[in-house]
Amino acid sequence: MNFVPEAVPVPQAGGPAHWFVFRRDELLVCRESGLAVIPYTADNPVPESEMIRKIYLGRLGGSPCYAVEVSSAWCPLPGTEFLGLRKLPGLMEEDLYKIAGRASQLLHWDSTHQYCGRCGARTETKADEHARFCPVCGLTGYPRISPAVICLITRGKQILLVRRAGRQHYSIIAGFVEPGESLEESLRREVREEVGIEITNIKYFGSQPWPFPHSLMVAFTACYAGGDLDVDMVEIVEAGWYTAGNLPGCLPPPSSIARKLVNWFVENFAD
Ligand SMILES: [Zn+2]
Repeated sequence: MNFVPEAVPVPQAGGPAHWFVFRRDELLVCRESGLAVIPYTADNPVPESEMIRKIYLGRLGGSPCYAVEVSSAWCPLPGTEFLGLRKLPGLMEEDLYKIAGRASQLLHWDSTHQYCGRCGARTETKADEHARFCPVCGLTGYPRISPAVICLITRGKQILLVRRAGRQHYSIIAGFVEPGESLEESLRREVREEVGIEITNIKYFGSQPWPFPHSLMVAFTACYAGGDLDVDMVEIVEAGWYTAGNLPGCLPPPSSIARKLVNWFVENFAD
């Protein structure tokens, strides 16, 4: 179904809406034939008294979509449950999951920008776009997106995989972009800091919104250029080179761009 993002509802006569109802960071879903679906009803499934905020998101297949945050005390309706976003890939249609990520990010941003960051006055919702406006000093705040870079590094027919502190699965180097950095500079710095090596031949691979709570993962491939692996033992506790036929059993989840990079490596570098 086609999703059209909008900030202002288009006047239309009745009809059902898609309701993305969040309690903290969990989405209200109902299980139907093994899939998780969200309420599709004319009326808001959440009573007014339990609603903390409501944000219009746009239209999916012509029907309006709303993000709603409910109080933590609200109990789900019979036959429904709250599930964390990380559990939903594979359980929910991709179109719906992407809008759920957008809904989660907008609700999180709205809840953390109720006061002006410059003068401390209470902010107001801007009517014509997703933004909050300070009526005292005029500052306008937009939803925050934090870019992060992620990079698959090859050396001949091997890739670099690392294990982060406290994690079971092996993944690839990733980190947040710092102010003043290009994406490529950010990558080189992260790789140097975390495993002590240099990279070259950086190529764009793709990107993925990562709503935990407001990242955008920008993925690259690169080649090893020099240096010995030197793990920082703070963020990264293990690093090594692996061939396509000898990967560790515990890899990133299938829906993540990290896993798509590993799959790309397997397809292109297998013996
Ligand atoms: Zn202000």
